[in-house]
Amino acid sequence: MSIIKLHNLYFKPFIKKEEIKQIVKQLAYQVKQELPKDEIPIFVGILNGCFLFAADFIREFNGNCEVSFVKLASYNGTKSTEKVKELVGINEDITNRTVIILEDVIDTGTTLQEIYNIFRNKNVKQLKIVSLFFKPDVFRKELPIDYIGKSIADKFIVGYGLDYNGLGRNYPEIYQLTTAPKMKNIVLFGPPGAGKGTQAEFLKDMYNLVHISTGDVFRFNIKNATELGLLAKKYMDEGDLVPDEVTINMLKAEVEKNADANGFIFDGFPRTQSQAEALDAFLADKGEQINGMVALEVPEDLLVERLLERGKTSGRADDTDEGKIRNRFNEYNTKTAILKDYFAEQNKYYGINGVGSIAEITKRIAEVFNTL
Ligand code: AMP
Repeated sequence: MSIIKLHNLYFKPFIKKEEIKQIVKQLAYQVKQELPKDEIPIFVGILNGCFLFAADFIREFNGNCEVSFVKLASYNGTKSTEKVKELVGINEDITNRTVIILEDVIDTGTTLQEIYNIFRNKNVKQLKIVSLFFKPDVFRKELPIDYIGKSIADKFIVGYGLDYNGLGRNYPEIYQLTTAPKMKNIVLFGPPGAGKGTQAEFLKDMYNLVHISTGDVFRFNIKNATELGLLAKKYMDEGDLVPDEVTINMLKAEVEKNADANGFIFDGFPRTQSQAEALDAFLADKGEQINGMVALEVPEDLLVERLLERGKTSGRADDTDEGKIRNRFNEYNTKTAILKDYFAEQNKYYGINGVGSIAEITKRIAEVFNTL
């Protein structure tokens, strides 16, 4: 999950699908438990926000019930100053029935109070309120809320039926208002030997970004014989990927070290689907995002030649042995290449011809960077 933009505002992931499902299930269970056996309640959803919650709730309730929806509409009364609030949508006879109001989120409680008063005057047997979310810091009414799914901070939320000026209702998760992203974060992508490191050195100065090469950080740790270095060495020497957990934690630490950066060029990271997901979640949590993946596309044969040539001077064990080089490509093709689709689905993939002089390629990349 990454941050989303609705109209002029940005929202960051707040409550995941799985958690919402759990909360809804729990609410439905509690309501059912406390109803007398054979009682057929009328669930009344408050539109528009509650439509997804109501749909999921009544499926979890899994018992005989009636379902209705209402909307509170304001009309101008006969006198121009008079506002009349009317509940639209209830056609059932609810006299002597158990009415259970389904609300998506309660903040000040003003609207709900009006709806509650209208129902209370209709001679119902019982009137209960279920709210998926509740903002205790701003609630100002005496109204009894019988069931609360989750109490949350007083910040604007969207998703799972809730909108900001009409948008956002379709997202299956809940997002919370955040500030606009400040960073420019770019994934420089491509197979081993594509020239990512070389290009990043130019680009970081041109755009005032911090360059993080996970390969370089591992090599630095190996040189200094740290615990991390010792662990990574056995994978790197064979041309295998270092395990995700180790790599992800290291990457996060490198980002944290540069908290004030204008942004980052990620080189050699992410290399697996779970690294990509972890990076998205990590940045989203800070209200930041990946602006784009810029990929250097170079035919594999040319790459092997380049790597063997580099191996003559780089001193890298994984650059000198053709078998190990082939294994790195195998790792790339089986675990990393799929990330093209991952970013393309988010409309963030930019492929670049990586064959040519260093300066030519820098120019091609810069044309893309300028648009991100
Ligand atoms: P590089 O310098 O990017 O070619 O990386 C050299 C080696 O470091 C790789 O073959 C892996 O063994 C290890 N490595 C670098 N980045 C990662 C990563 N994101 N995930 C797993 N292993 C990595």
